[in-house]
Amino acid sequence: MSQFACGQTKVRVGNRKFERKNKPIMLQIASMTFNPFQENTYVLYDGSGSCVIVDPGCYEPDEQQELKSFITRNELKVVQLVNTHCHVDHVLGNEFVKQTYGVGLYIHRLDEPVLRAVSSYAPNYGFNRYQAAEVDGFLEEGGEVSFGDTMLSILFVPGHAPGHVAFYSAENKALISGDVLFYNSIGRTDLPGGHYDTLEKSIREKLYVLPDDTTVYPGHGPETSIGFEKRTNPFVRA
Ligand SMILES: [Zn+2]
Ligand SMILES: [Zn+2]
Repeated sequence: MSQFACGQTKVRVGNRKFERKNKPIMLQIASMTFNPFQENTYVLYDGSGSCVIVDPGCYEPDEQQELKSFITRNELKVVQLVNTHCHVDHVLGNEFVKQTYGVGLYIHRLDEPVLRAVSSYAPNYGFNRYQAAEVDGFLEEGGEVSFGDTMLSILFVPGHAPGHVAFYSAENKALISGDVLFYNSIGRTDLPGGHYDTLEKSIREKLYVLPDDTTVYPGHGPETSIGFEKRTNPFVRA
């Protein structure tokens, strides 16, 4: 599914015109693909050295080490942990990140039951060592996730999960879309809390209204753009 093999870290560097004294202040997005679901974990950072970790799917020790090594190598300070939604593949590394960096976990309130349910079904997928993490606060539409010189607005995009959020930076033309919109695909709606009409509405009213040249960083598979999906997505076409 993913064009990024496990163990590879892809870093996207922001627009150079915003660099200041050779210090890039624009958002940079590193992607690591973890666990058998090939989930994309993102580290968002900028020239301030601060970073936010989104959906840490690391489970095996070597996956945890890969995330940790990236943070260390880039001398980043982790300031927040957020989940787009709380399916097992996106939350496996939550407790590892909390323990390693002492940061709080933030999710949408409506996905708290989804997070609580993970402990009961994680062993069915072979994740016998899953450690549940406590939620420290909630993300709401209209709010923002900010660190260093970067601010991302929170979009509420239910349908794949009841409390699904996406993170959008207009300045950086970037959208962290979780499992709502993929390269020529959309999130499944047959899981508990999923609803097709709601997902389609989220995509049309919250995502397809963004500029066409917005890069979409999904929870699985390769990057895409709003314009490309509006033209070619087989499930939701503009
Ligand atoms: Zn999901
Ligand atoms: Zn997923």
